[in-house]
Amino acid sequence: KVQVTNLNKNFGTNHVLKNVNLDVQANEVVVIIGPSGSGKSTFLRTLNRLEEPTSGSIIIDGVDIATSNSNINQVRENVGMVFQHFNLFNNLSVAQNIMLAPQELKKLNAQEASEEAHRLLKTVGLEEKFDAPVQSLSGGQQQRVAIARALAMHPDLMLFDEPTSALDPEMVGDVLQVMKKLAQQGMTMVVVTHEMGFAKEVADRVLFFDDGQILEEGTPTQIFNHPQNPRLQEFLNKIL
Ligand code: ATP
Ligand code: MG
Repeated sequence: KVQVTNLNKNFGTNHVLKNVNLDVQANEVVVIIGPSGSGKSTFLRTLNRLEEPTSGSIIIDGVDIATSNSNINQVRENVGMVFQHFNLFNNLSVAQNIMLAPQELKKLNAQEASEEAHRLLKTVGLEEKFDAPVQSLSGGQQQRVAIARALAMHPDLMLFDEPTSALDPEMVGDVLQVMKKLAQQGMTMVVVTHEMGFAKEVADRVLFFDDGQILEEGTPTQIFNHPQNPRLQEFLNKIL
């Protein structure tokens, strides 16, 4: 489904991703943990070509998106991304945020897009916010709208980059609940998070990123209860 091979990314002389290899199976939930600056966000951003890889290949559903002649827009339509800061259009309503891209790119008419927005808002528990201005929503609600907006493109793969890190603590649970539901429905997901409870409960596989490399990977039990690499042990000691 997703096959990353010998992926490298340099920013000038800063070698940020160092020969990263990763396969993600359909329906799999992969959680990435690791210290600040280790390349987690850069890795996610290469997966939907927000960053151009320096070398290596990234095959998503049979298409190598690392090569410059692939259709980047097609890739982005099939890979949804949710960021720490929701990046919603603040001057639009909740529904307008969700309906915008499907109408433009998937050529839904207004009626179809509206029905889709209703369905998605139900999924994220915000049916009653259909016409609300985005600014009137709490951070947690805005993040759930951002998830609905990404889902509106019917992506094959969803990428989450610390989706709960900017939220007040009481909002975190609602967002994680929506993500857990998506996972249970079989969405293929790669999630960068500091929420170790979520990782333990929902991840099929956990990757420990350090200095641009995957230093260790395994099931949540292997990673959290039987970490092998001293750097991972040190990291877990700091955060748990
Ligand atoms: P955090 O946990 O703090 O979010 P991270 O693991 O997501 O960290 P990245 O944001 O991927 O780390 O950054 C990895 C390295 O790449 C850092 O040294 C950072 O300064 C560098 N970097 C990231 N984006 C850019 C950019 N657009 N231009 C130059 N350097 C960048
Ligand atoms: Mg980051």
